[in-house]
Amino acid sequence: MRWAGSMGSPWSDFVVDPLADLVFGSQCLGCALPGRMLCGDCSAALPTTAFWTRPTPCPEGLGAVAASAAYGGPVQAMVVGHKEHRQLALRRPLARLLATSVQLLVADDPGVPVLVVPVPSAPSSARRRGHDPLYAVARGAARALRRAGTPARVTRLLVVGRRVHDQSGLDSAARAQNLAGALAGRRRALKAAASGRPVHVVIVDDVITTGATAREAQRALEELGVRLRGIAVIAATQRRTALLSSAGFD
Ligand SMILES: [Zn+2]
Repeated sequence: MRWAGSMGSPWSDFVVDPLADLVFGSQCLGCALPGRMLCGDCSAALPTTAFWTRPTPCPEGLGAVAASAAYGGPVQAMVVGHKEHRQLALRRPLARLLATSVQLLVADDPGVPVLVVPVPSAPSSARRRGHDPLYAVARGAARALRRAGTPARVTRLLVVGRRVHDQSGLDSAARAQNLAGALAGRRRALKAAASGRPVHVVIVDDVITTGATAREAQRALEELGVRLRGIAVIAATQRRTALLSSAGFD
């Protein structure tokens, strides 16, 4: 039985309301079917290919960006549910989406090991949430890549260098200014992870909006001498990004 019809938007805040979870038990974030957090049908309906995307306006010099989904609908509910409500059952499907994006970035050069570098979250956020959601999803993505034959591992090459103000409500210029110098690269970790071999370094994040965070992560890695392969995200905020076909991107 599908409940979605009687509930309005099936992935509205109702679905992620913890009270609803108490009353009804777990239910699918996509269609509100009672049971698993993501039912078989909704899981099967998740994207299996990634696309190239650019924020608009795009921070100068931003590397190639691959995303698996537009930020909205069930994917947004999954990202928020996992990140803020510790719905850990969503980790694996989110990891699959992220792996798909990484795959697009390295597709034309297979076999080269991939260093997956998560954008770090402030230690205070990880404490508040009780977990480091992006790091966990990145590890799942690396596992999915290895299963598909691409050697991949997660390396914490970036750390938060200084406190930044809350980004919400800031336009892209203000975000860039707020973030400048916010992240720092870990030279020792890079040496240990790459050890002289050719590798593809890919930054991963859950959502790209203005691209300011990704650009700052890129800057910090480039300061270490890293030539970035690109940025892989689960989802791109559609409002501010232009979708490009993979053929049209260069
Ligand atoms: Zn469903």
